[in-house]
Amino acid sequence: MVVESREWVLSAYVPQGVPTSEHLKLNTVTLKLDSDSIPDRHIAVQLLWLSIDPYLRTRMSGHQDGLYFPQFELNQAVTGFGVARVIRSKNSSYIEGDIILNPFCPVAEYCIIQPSDFLRKVDPDAGVPLPDYLCSLGVPGFSAWVGIEVLGNPKPGENVFISAAAGGVGMFAGQLAKIKGCRVVGSTGSDEKVKLLKEEFGYDDAFNYNTETDFDAALSKYFPTGIDIYLENVGGKMLEAVLNHVNKRARIPVCGMISQYNQVWSEREGVRNLLNMVGKEVRMEGYLVGSYINRFGDFAKEMESYIKQGKISSKHKIYNGIESFLESLASLFSSSNVGKVVIQVKQEMEA
Ligand code: NAP
Repeated sequence: MVVESREWVLSAYVPQGVPTSEHLKLNTVTLKLDSDSIPDRHIAVQLLWLSIDPYLRTRMSGHQDGLYFPQFELNQAVTGFGVARVIRSKNSSYIEGDIILNPFCPVAEYCIIQPSDFLRKVDPDAGVPLPDYLCSLGVPGFSAWVGIEVLGNPKPGENVFISAAAGGVGMFAGQLAKIKGCRVVGSTGSDEKVKLLKEEFGYDDAFNYNTETDFDAALSKYFPTGIDIYLENVGGKMLEAVLNHVNKRARIPVCGMISQYNQVWSEREGVRNLLNMVGKEVRMEGYLVGSYINRFGDFAKEMESYIKQGKISSKHKIYNGIESFLESLASLFSSSNVGKVVIQVKQEMEA
């Protein structure tokens, strides 16, 4: 059996700016999938769903820039978190039809891989829609949970601020903080998303940072009694403004700083008022969800129960076909998406 498979390859690093077709190319390769062509212990998989995540950008810059993920190799298929179907197996742990979650899935319609410890099989009886494994029960939900519940340590009545609040991590972070009895305000990039945060995700308030551009004034208005927890997703000017409004012993779990990902470090915005951290005894802590993997079971149990009780809802922005990888990646750096960005690479029923 031979298939034509389209795959995205990084042809040049992107030190600054949003990746374009000069950097990422869609190539077509021919793959032989007959038993003799698949090495022992390997499996052939067909990609069904792909998560589009901001950290992918930081693996394309050609230099280490703070997140310390290895750079993608030039002229190789880039990888992302994917849900794939096993279509051939020469590995006794997998059979045809198994659905797998692979955090390092080549962004390719088909590929042959040697399963690693990172691979997880989906329980077909769980009844969970596949994109949820990339969203509420995947990295965004887990990142929100670690940030709010583990590092934020929220107490009822505390004031919580979330940036990029209508995105993958943000929408769950706000809802988790509400469940803990906090007052929650979010910032996002459009009026439509402000409405969504308040009407669908239960935020107490929200503002559009593209129209309320004086962040210091906005935070005075939305947090008259100060901020106890700030889940940091954007960095730059927003972080600086927040530091002028923190309460004593505030917590700032630093999940990411997407407003800075397209610049080399020397061009990024500095934060001039870190001294507030001393006087207010603030705890700011960066984290990578991978380091909390031993807590994934606790998270999944809690999140599944909240979902069943109707306490957590989510939205996906679904792009169609592997050809949309570049467009969907670039869209992360605008305010055009609502919720978690994923690509449906293949319709499940025709897979
Ligand atoms: P996302 O929020 O779904 O998508 C990114 C969003 O960021 C965009 O939709 C946009 O929304 C906002 N944005 C883009 N450029 C911006 C700018 N210049 N200023 C302010 N906002 C901007 O992405 P996500 O996957 O949930 O990730 C959110 C953050 O969490 C990122 O910083 C990411 O790196 C981080 N993250 C960290 C971990 C970890 O382990 N630490 C894991 C996953 C994600 P609006 O402009 O409409 O608000």
